[in-house]
Amino acid sequence: VSWKHVLGHDVLVAAFASAAKRSRFGHAYLFIGPTGVGKYTFAQELAKTLLCEARGERFEACDECPSCHLVDAGTHPDLFIVARPEDKNELPIALIRGDDDEPGLLGNLALKPARGQRKVAILDDADDLSEEAANSFLKTLEEPPPRSLLILIGGATENRQKATILSRCQIIRFGSLPPAAMAKVLAAHGIVDTDKQRRLLQLAAGCPGQALALDDEEVWNFRGRLLKTLGSGKIDPVDVAEQWRTFIDNAGKDGAAQRARAAFIFRMVIVMLEAALKLSLGAVCPEWEENERQTLQELGDRAGEAKLLAWLERAQEADRQVEWYVQLVLVIEAFLDALSR
Ligand SMILES: [Zn+2]
Repeated sequence: VSWKHVLGHDVLVAAFASAAKRSRFGHAYLFIGPTGVGKYTFAQELAKTLLCEARGERFEACDECPSCHLVDAGTHPDLFIVARPEDKNELPIALIRGDDDEPGLLGNLALKPARGQRKVAILDDADDLSEEAANSFLKTLEEPPPRSLLILIGGATENRQKATILSRCQIIRFGSLPPAAMAKVLAAHGIVDTDKQRRLLQLAAGCPGQALALDDEEVWNFRGRLLKTLGSGKIDPVDVAEQWRTFIDNAGKDGAAQRARAAFIFRMVIVMLEAALKLSLGAVCPEWEENERQTLQELGDRAGEAKLLAWLERAQEADRQVEWYVQLVLVIEAFLDALSR
C-alpha cells in the first residue's frame, strides 16, 4: 500500500493498513515527530482513508467518492479538526469541551457518524493543550464513543504531554525523511532545480514541511549571514541580536510564525556547530559548499572541541526554551551572551 499524498512514511502506512485488516485499530493515537515531517498530512490522509466510501481491499482513499471530496473540501461531517488559534499560546478548553454555541471536539466525536462510517477527530498542536483541556479528554480516552478515532498531533518528543494522556494513547513516531524521499516531495511541489533542492535539504533536516517553508530568499540569505557571523570569531551580541530580531519580526505579527523563525535560527546554529565539530575532528561533510566548509573548518579549529560542545549545549537549551514559550528576546540575549564570551 502506498498513499500518493504521503511520501516517505511507508512503514507507518503499512502498519495502519495491517491494523485495519486485522481489525486492531486503536481509538487514540499520538503522533510524535519533528515539525514539518508530515504528521498532519498523514493524519488527514488516514482520516480520508477510514472515511472513504469506495475503498476496496487496499487501505487507500479512492479520492473520487463523495466522502473523499468532502474531506478534501474540509467539510466532511464526520471529520473534526481542532488547532491552537494563531493568537493563543494554549488550546482553549472551549474548543475541546464545547460551549453553548459549538459542541467542540468531544461533542462532535460523541455524535453518531452522519455518513455511516465512523467519526474522526484530529487535534493539532496537542503540545499546547491547557491542563484543564487535557483533563477534559481523559474520560473520552478511557471510554471512547463507538467507531470514533482521535488523532493527537504532538511535537518532536512527548516531553510536553501529560502522563495521563500518554498512558491512554498509542504513540506513533515519525522519523525524518531520507534525501531521496525529500527530493520527491520537493519535486511534487514544483521545486526541481537540483541546486535549490540541495540547499533546502540541508536546511530542513529531513522534514519536507520545513523545506517548503524555507523556500524563501530571505531565509537563505539569513542563513548565509549566520554562517559568516559564527565564522567571524568576534560576535557583537547587541548587533547580532538586532539582526536576529529583525529576521524574526519579518515573519509578521503572528506569534507562532515568529517562534518558528527563532526555532529555525537555533536549529541552523546547531547544524553549523555540529559541522564545525565534525570538520575539526577530520570528517568530510560533503553536503556543504567548499567556501562554507572552509568557514566552518576555521570556526572549528579556532574554537576547539570543548567550546563547540559547550555552545552546542547552549543552542539546544535555547531551542527548547523557544518550544516552551520563553520570551524570545531573553532566549536570544542569553544565548548570544554565552557565545560571545
Ligand atoms: Zn473515497
